[in-house]
Amino acid sequence: MIIKPKVRGFICINAHPQGCAGNVQEQIAYTKAQGAVAGGPRNVLVLGCSTGYGLASRITAAFGSGAKTLGVCFEKPPTDTKTASAGYYNTSAFHDAAAAAGLYAHTINGDAFSGECKTQVIDLLRNGIGKVDLVVYSLAAPRRTDPVTGELHSSVLKPIGAAYTAKNLNTDTLKISDITVEPATDAEIAATVKVMGGEDWELWIKALREADLLSEGCQTVAYTYLGDKLTWPIYGHATIGKAKEDLDRAADAISASLQGVGGKARVAVLKALVTQASSAIPVMPLYLSILIKVMKEDGSNEGCIEQIQRLFTECLYSAQPRLDAAGRYRVDDKELNPEIQAKVEAIWPLVNEENLFELTDFKGYNSDFLKLFGFGVAGVDYEAETSPLVKTNF
Ligand code: NAD
Repeated sequence: MIIKPKVRGFICINAHPQGCAGNVQEQIAYTKAQGAVAGGPRNVLVLGCSTGYGLASRITAAFGSGAKTLGVCFEKPPTDTKTASAGYYNTSAFHDAAAAAGLYAHTINGDAFSGECKTQVIDLLRNGIGKVDLVVYSLAAPRRTDPVTGELHSSVLKPIGAAYTAKNLNTDTLKISDITVEPATDAEIAATVKVMGGEDWELWIKALREADLLSEGCQTVAYTYLGDKLTWPIYGHATIGKAKEDLDRAADAISASLQGVGGKARVAVLKALVTQASSAIPVMPLYLSILIKVMKEDGSNEGCIEQIQRLFTECLYSAQPRLDAAGRYRVDDKELNPEIQAKVEAIWPLVNEENLFELTDFKGYNSDFLKLFGFGVAGVDYEAETSPLVKTNF
């Protein structure tokens, strides 16, 4: 088949196998070009390993430190007539590259929130690489089934306390209009914390600790976004922000539970980026379109792989990690630079449908978005007859 992007709203429902492989190779090349990470990890578990920040973490661990990696993701395999999800192709490409480099890699494609998946990972570690020294928690999911009660919880992206009206860009129609998001109910806030809060992170570390699969001095990190004034009403101070606050609580609880192995849990604050998770958040596409323009002009724009490279070298494996007062690792410094934020805030009220391409880098946003699904990648022939099937290597 000829594989062209099929965009529906804020999601692209297909992906290009060679394009996804190209993205993975590009990230691997970046990591290798940075050189070895001194004191980097040896055995790594990445939860949410197939796209966005989790994939970048896996690549950085494997190709920057020579680490053995076990990954968990939730991705759709291809059929004769339908493409796989991008994360499936990314993972297949990662496995090819790891095999070529002689690096151990194993991936479980299943529901990381389930008890069965945790048991599967524990069995695999016991019979494979043994104890891990780094656990990366990078899941972004809209729903979670509680493994104890069997109840399905769905997260919402809503403000807390009062309705919020803001300028929103419909990335499909390029219309800019005000949207009003009604405030979340208490039940919706609680459900969002259940899905995106720290409970599942704690369950993972508890299961690994009880199975004696955490090395002396192991580290675990979960990713968050804090943002600034423009995104606070829909992110930082909203339902997702409440869930992310719960990660801070979980980090303390996990660190206390890891005293026996001298381990540490920290939350890492990363910058806003175009990923499948962030494109679903109202306000974010317009914010990102402006941010990308301002940061490119400043020469400080970064993607997932650059962010995670800095997380490893400036935080996780640094003698003097960049920490905030709450004990979180910070690599969102360039985005939150007051000069950058002031420029974004100045552009925000001026943007309209006529000047969208002039005042923002929507072109850059859109090409970053399509790239997530393997479209617009250099060297790929998008007119060529392409099989959606790839070698099953994980
Ligand atoms: P993403 O959508 O690119 O990746 C999500 C990953 O989770 C994928 O590997 C997916 O397969 C996996 N996953 C989802 N549900 C799963 C399940 N039930 N079982 C197993 N795997 C599952 O998301 P992302 O943007 O890279 O986000 C990762 C983390 O980084 C999130 O915690 C997010 O809040 C945080 N973060 C994102 C941004 C941003 O701007 N994108 C900024 C800062 C922090």
